[in-house]
Amino acid sequence: MGTILRTVLIAALIFVLVRVLQHFLGRYLTSYTSKEGNGEEPTLLKCAKCGTWTPKEAVVRRGEQVFCSNDCADEQT
Ligand SMILES: [Zn+2]
Repeated sequence: MGTILRTVLIAALIFVLVRVLQHFLGRYLTSYTSKEGNGEEPTLLKCAKCGTWTPKEAVVRRGEQVFCSNDCADEQT
């Protein structure tokens, strides 16, 4: 009787241990891979009108020049 209870307890303990280990290992691995993922860093581009640094994905392009917003792009032309 006692051995069954002990076996169940040990099994539960191992289960919890594995889950905790997976949790921390998963967090470690994701933080590691995100740190190592270089090359795709957000690049800032300077607005040709007001000089505001804007993320590459958010800039407004007019030919060779880049602007922080449509307002700046329209004012320039
Ligand atoms: Zn601007």
